[in-house]
Amino acid sequence: MRTPRAVIRPVKHSIGTHPRGEITVSALCLDGACLWTLATTSDLKAADLAMMTHTGLSGHPTFARTFEDVALVRRLKLHARPDPCPLDRKQ
Ligand SMILES: [Zn+2]
Repeated sequence: MRTPRAVIRPVKHSIGTHPRGEITVSALCLDGACLWTLATTSDLKAADLAMMTHTGLSGHPTFARTFEDVALVRRLKLHARPDPCPLDRKQ
């Protein structure tokens, strides 16, 4: 009696930031009881400026920053283009 067999091959993948996504940042001041926070924004330069302004006004130089992006994983095929992004399919 024969049993079914599966052939398992390793498949390579790549991962990166989604080309149509954006990186966002939020922050909070880590100085003692300071309650300063930066709301989530995709304007990274404005975020840097807001933290530097807070430092200039308060003397607080340390912040916890949280960055977030949308990751896209694509299966790589030998001698072929990567799978298209499912978000790019027309509906
Ligand atoms: Zn502060």
